[in-house]
Amino acid sequence: MTEVTRSEREGWLRSLPSVDEVLGWEAVKALAGAYPRWALVECVRGFLEEKRQEILQGKKPAPMEEQLVSQELVEAARTRFAATLCRVINATGVILHTNLGRALLAPRAMERAQEIALYYSNLEYDLRGDLRGNRQMHVQPLLHELTGAEASLVVNNNAAALFLIINTVAEGKEVIVSRGELVEIGGSFRLPEIMKKGGALLREVGTTNKTYLSDYEEAMSPQTGLLLKVHTSNFRLSGFTAACSLGELVGLGRRYQVPVAEDLGSGAMVDLSLLGLPKEPLVKESVEAGADLVCFSGDKLLGGPQAGLILGRDDLVQRLGKNPLARAMRLDKLSLACLEATLRIYLQGEAMKEIPVLSALSAPLEWMEQRAQRLVEWMGPVARRAFAPQIEAGEAEAGGGSLPGVLIPTRWVTLRPSSLSVQWLEEGLRNGNPPILTRIKKGALILDMLTVTEEELGPIGNQLAYLANLA
Ligand SMILES: *Cc1c(COP(=O)(O)O)cnc(C)c1O
Repeated sequence: MTEVTRSEREGWLRSLPSVDEVLGWEAVKALAGAYPRWALVECVRGFLEEKRQEILQGKKPAPMEEQLVSQELVEAARTRFAATLCRVINATGVILHTNLGRALLAPRAMERAQEIALYYSNLEYDLRGDLRGNRQMHVQPLLHELTGAEASLVVNNNAAALFLIINTVAEGKEVIVSRGELVEIGGSFRLPEIMKKGGALLREVGTTNKTYLSDYEEAMSPQTGLLLKVHTSNFRLSGFTAACSLGELVGLGRRYQVPVAEDLGSGAMVDLSLLGLPKEPLVKESVEAGADLVCFSGDKLLGGPQAGLILGRDDLVQRLGKNPLARAMRLDKLSLACLEATLRIYLQGEAMKEIPVLSALSAPLEWMEQRAQRLVEWMGPVARRAFAPQIEAGEAEAGGGSLPGVLIPTRWVTLRPSSLSVQWLEEGLRNGNPPILTRIKKGALILDMLTVTEEELGPIGNQLAYLANLA
């Protein structure tokens, strides 16, 4: 190794451009629109400092080509200053993927949010008089129309809705729940802990697989504040089982004058058995069965924004609204705008067509077959040789704690790279722009055509072609 002399090093250091010089280069100036000046200055400084350190360690600097340096700066600016919350392509086949943002909104619902975001609105202002309005007035009549419920309250999410119900109706009292329904909904949201935080005492009845009405009745006492039924939305009990119907619980509640609440989890508004799927309990049916309170999510099967919807008896809903916690859980105006628009789509009978969750659930298999074929075409010959795509019949899930155990027929494009690992391919797709998220099953990479759109086939095909060239 030849020694670098001190004067050589100093010469190299002097040859480095200044920050201002680099900022003046045409290719760098072209970046100025995309990033704030201070961000670019920071990237240029970081870049030059890196070069300086390399020189001090005796490394001869490569000639500074404007084009190459700018490309490096673009990369640096992008990793440091681009938005971290970004669009991804969901090729997992999970329609309601909690980590990928759950339900996609109907475009019409999104347009409402945009208008309400850009302009002032009558959020809490009654335009018909001098009454002080209430944000609930924008969805109350719609929910009444759709479900027959006497009253309603919407909050931030269903976890909040359930907590509000327990804390308002059963604080200092017992809540009777079947052992088969003590669910963990995700993260640390477990029913026993919610009860405790809500100030109620959990009274478990029955066994994991069987709970009879007599189990509930034996647990009734003057301490009982609520009978709670929870839809076991992220698992399915099968085999030797017995559970009480909501109607039976309502009968018991009436006899003892104890309110009955049902946490429906997903809250379907349309009958999924029309699509050949197993029947999910409908919100309307729970209201008709006489539940005093019903709650469910806005962004599961309903296909709207994140929200918790509570329906039920007017006097109870009023008490919920007066709980100081209700203010801490209130739904923001953008979600409210989306929710109102989503409910109006249901009222117009256009839900199957316009609500993305429902159109995905009802999409004909031929569409997925066509998308699979088009994707294989898009990949091009190099990627086809490298990854050996095959179109296979597969199964997708609704996800998000909806329709547990239900497999939806779909088409997969499976890839089995010949020279590189399937993990490398998965990572290469995940690092795409936009990132493409897939699954690995039995050594093959799976691209599920149920959750990708027509316009996403191009970006997937291009990224696969790019990766094939690296391979
Ligand atoms: C998903 C779910 C919740 C939580 O709903 P979020 O809207 O995610 O807060 C509560 N209960 C049940 C039964 C669920 O399935």
